[in-house]
Amino acid sequence: MSTKTRLARRADAVRRQLKRHRLDGLLVTDMANVAYLTGFSGTAGMALVTARAVHLIVDFRYFEQAAAEAPGASLVHVDRAFYGAAIAQALLDTGARHLAFEAEQVPYATYMAWQDESPDVTWTPSRGLVEAGRELKDAGEVAMIRQAAAITSAAVTGALAMLAPGVTEREVAAEIERNFKRLGADGVAFGTLVAAGERAALPHPRPGDRKLQPGEWLLIDSGATVGGYCADMTRTLVLGRPDARQREVWDAVRAALEAGLQAARPGVKASAVDAACRRVLAKRGLDRYFGHDTGHGVGLTIHEAPRLAPDSDDVLEPGMIITVEPGVYVPGWGGVRLEELALVTDDGLEVLTTAPVALTPLSTLFA
Ligand code: ZN
Ligand code: ZN
Repeated sequence: MSTKTRLARRADAVRRQLKRHRLDGLLVTDMANVAYLTGFSGTAGMALVTARAVHLIVDFRYFEQAAAEAPGASLVHVDRAFYGAAIAQALLDTGARHLAFEAEQVPYATYMAWQDESPDVTWTPSRGLVEAGRELKDAGEVAMIRQAAAITSAAVTGALAMLAPGVTEREVAAEIERNFKRLGADGVAFGTLVAAGERAALPHPRPGDRKLQPGEWLLIDSGATVGGYCADMTRTLVLGRPDARQREVWDAVRAALEAGLQAARPGVKASAVDAACRRVLAKRGLDRYFGHDTGHGVGLTIHEAPRLAPDSDDVLEPGMIITVEPGVYVPGWGGVRLEELALVTDDGLEVLTTAPVALTPLSTLFA
C-alpha cells in the first residue's frame, strides 16, 4: 500500500467518526495525531480534517518540510502569532460550522480564543477520534517499531561492555543513547532511565551520579525511535554475584513476565494479561510491591492505547503493539522490572525486543 493510500484511509476512518457524531470536521492539535494523518513530522502545526480534505496548517519554519512530507494535505500557511485567525479563515473556506477539537490537548484559553475568532463555529470537545485508528498498526508502522526495538536491544546489549565498578548511571544512559544514534535511530522515545543499587526501587529513576558497585542492582529502561515510532524495553540485572533474596525477586518477576507474554493473544482482555502477571507475584507475596499497570500500547507515542491494567476494558487485537512489564519495587532495597515490547499477531504474540533477559550477564566483571 502506498503512503498516500495509507494516509487517505486514516483520514477516512476519522471522517466516519465525524459523520456518526454529525460533525463537519476535526481540528487536530496533538502532534502525534497530526503526523499520523499527514506524514508531517514537525513539532508545531495543526491539521483540519473535513469531509473533502485534510488541511495542514503550519508557520514559516515548516513551509518546506510540510510540502515535502505531506504532499497529500492541502497546506495552509499561517503567521506564527495568528494560528487562530488562519484557522478561522480555513473554516470559512471549507464551510465547516460544527467542529470537534481534542479536549485533552487544548488549553481553556485557546478554546476561548477560537470561539472569539470564529463566532459562526460550534466547538465540540472530543476524545480518541484519531487515537482509535492508531491502536492497530499497519505493516509500515510495524516495520518501523520492529527496527526501533532491534536498535534498542542492540544498544543496551552493547552498553553492557562498558559497565564496571565506578561507572555512573549517567554514563550508562549516555552510552545507550550514543548507541541509538550510531545504529541509525532518529531519537529517543524518552530520556533513558538508569538506576543502580537501592535506586532501582524507583519505577522512573532519572540517571544520576550513583556509581555501579559489585552485588548491586542495575535497572535500564530505554527506547529508540525510528520514523517517529517508539520502542520500549527494560532489563534489570545484578552486577556480579546476586544474593538469595535478589535471585528470588528476580526469578519472580521473570516468571510474571513469562505468564503475561503467554496470556497475551488476540481476543484476550488486556486486564487478563495484567491479572496473569499479578497472580504470579501474589503467589510469592510480592504483588503489593507491584504498583503500576502491567503494560501499554506503543506507537508514535510511548504510552498509548491499549492499557494493560486491572480496570482496562481493552481487548487485544492483531496489529496492536504492547509492552508487558511487571515489576517489584522494595523501597530502600531495590527493585526489578523486566519489560518486553511485542506485536499481537493473528494467533499469538511476537516479542520484538531481543536483548537477553539474564540476572547476571556480567558476573566476571564484578567478581
Ligand atoms: Zn519502559
Ligand atoms: Zn513501558
